[in-house]
Amino acid sequence: MSKILTAIVIIIANLATPAAALQTAPIAGSARTAPIQQIVIHATGGPDCNAKRSFRSGTLAGITQYFTDNQHRISIHYIIDRNGDVVRMVPEQQIAHHVRGHNANSIGIELINDGDGHDQFAAAQITALIALLRELLPRYQLTAAALKSHAELDDSWLDCGKQRIKRKQDPGAAFPWQQVKQELTAPAAPVITIPPPLPAPPPPVVIPPELKSPLFAVRQRQQHINALVAVDREFRQRERVVNANLSLVFNDRQDAAIALATPGDEDRQAQLQETLAQLNQREAELRRELLGILQVQENAKAAIRHLRNIH
Ligand SMILES: [Zn+2]
Repeated sequence: MSKILTAIVIIIANLATPAAALQTAPIAGSARTAPIQQIVIHATGGPDCNAKRSFRSGTLAGITQYFTDNQHRISIHYIIDRNGDVVRMVPEQQIAHHVRGHNANSIGIELINDGDGHDQFAAAQITALIALLRELLPRYQLTAAALKSHAELDDSWLDCGKQRIKRKQDPGAAFPWQQVKQELTAPAAPVITIPPPLPAPPPPVVIPPELKSPLFAVRQRQQHINALVAVDREFRQRERVVNANLSLVFNDRQDAAIALATPGDEDRQAQLQETLAQLNQREAELRRELLGILQVQENAKAAIRHLRNIH
C-alpha cells in the first residue's frame, strides 16, 4: 500500500507565462540600511539641456554598459528591454543609486523607453515588469501602493540657461500605471494540480476450481481468504486516493472558474479555459478509475463470502 502512496506524485503544472530571458551584469552596491519599502519605476530616456540628447531611450546593451562604467555614481537593480528581456545588476539586498534621497529603502527598475510620454511601452516589456513585480511585492510584503515613479520622488530642476526643466520625469505619461496596478491586484491564474493515474490494478479475482470443493483443506482456503482480504484492503486505499484526487480537481476547477470570472487579458482567459477543459477530462478519468476500483472490491467481497460458505 505504501508503494501506491509513494507512487501518487502530484504534478504541479505551473501555467504562468514563461519568464522572459534573464541575464545578469552584477554590480556591487552598498549594504542596505533600511527595509525595502518602495519600488521605483524609471524610463531610460529623460530631459537634457541639450535637445539632441533629450528623451532617448538607448539600448539594453548600451544602458547596461553605461551603468557598469558609471557604477560609483549611478546604478540600478533591474533593466527591462522592450522585448521583455531582463538584466539584473545590483543585488536586491544591496543599495543601488537611482533615486535621490530614496535609495536606502528602494529597488530600482529601469525600462528601456524614451520617457517622453509618446514612446509607448511594449506589451512584452510590461508583461515582464508585471512578472517581476509579482515576485518582488510578496517577497517584501508590499502592495501595488509601493510602486513609485522616479518623477514623484525627485523634485529637482535642470537649469538650462533661460529655461528650467523638471530634471526627472520618468517613466513618463505613456507608462500604463492603471494596467500594471490592476494586474497586480487581480488574482494570478491558479496553479493546477493534476494527479497522475494509479498503477494498473492486479488481474481480476479468480477462485481456483479446487477451492470450490468442500473437501479442500481448510487452511489453504483460509490463505486464499486472507489474500482476498488484502486485495479488498488495498482497493479501499486506492478508493481513498482517487477520492482525494477528485477533491483536488474540484478545488482547482472552482479556483479556475473564479479566476475566469475576473476580467483579464485574452491569453490568460484562454489559458484558464484550457485548464478547465483539462480538469474536466481528469475528473472523467478519475471517475472511471473509481468505478473499476469499486468493482474489484465487490468481486473480492463476493469471493470471500463464497469461500466462507464452503463447509
Ligand atoms: Zn529615473
